[in-house]
Amino acid sequence: MDIPRIFNITESAHRIHNPITPEKLATLGAALRLESGDRVLDLGSGSGEMLCTWARDHGITGIGIDMSQLFTEQAKLRAVELGVADQVTFIHDDAAGYVSDEKVSVAACVGATWIAGGVAGSIKLLAQSVRSGGIILIGEPYWRRLPPTEDVAKGCLANSISDFLMLPELLASFNHLGYDVVEMVLADQDGWDRYEAAKWLTMRRWLEDNPDDEYARDVRATLTSEPERYATYTREYLGWGVFALMPR
Ligand code: SAH
Repeated sequence: MDIPRIFNITESAHRIHNPITPEKLATLGAALRLESGDRVLDLGSGSGEMLCTWARDHGITGIGIDMSQLFTEQAKLRAVELGVADQVTFIHDDAAGYVSDEKVSVAACVGATWIAGGVAGSIKLLAQSVRSGGIILIGEPYWRRLPPTEDVAKGCLANSISDFLMLPELLASFNHLGYDVVEMVLADQDGWDRYEAAKWLTMRRWLEDNPDDEYARDVRATLTSEPERYATYTREYLGWGVFALMPR
């Protein structure tokens, strides 16, 4: 079981697989007022940076589930590197339908809400793991500027304009689901650059090391076109944020 190989190639050097920076991840941890011993569940935990740094900085314990074998291995190594291997557990698995045995203080799905069929489905799934008074964390894109045409949405690698909402609408949608939005940390264009531009050097180095790989032609085409596509579309139109929710 694994995610499509292209992500394991282009994001192999990423610690954070989203436009949030290490600084903003730390801001988020502080904003949530985490306490030592709090349990955190992370569905689609990637390379584990959120759980590992929060374990180091706030003394939380955590479980992360991710379908990428590579990212899960990297998460385990990061836990050892930060001295928190006894606090966090990373499981290589499909997180669809995952509910924790013990209730958690924070249940998160950061930039992977398709795992449960979208934002509403993810909230419903996470709600089954969170303790009363706990927090659900959702990381999700929104339109920073509304695409004027469907082609512009496709340029952002969305299927259609309807894939995402504007920020006020996204916040209203949480409200309509019966949740208070109690905190949020938003990415900015510099954060998008860290996520997207970091793929380019990784692709370039991968191409040099794997010229005869069956993916080399695709990766070459992507590297050639990606900076311009990103600057024209994603960087201009897409926002991204992590939203902290509590049921009313
Ligand atoms: N939350 C992490 C990773 C976000 S990228 C971070 O912010 O860094 C999306 C992640 O979802 C990837 O790590 C990918 O491997 C994982 N993923 C995709 N489908 C999944 C599934 N069905 N179950 C668990 N993880 C999945």
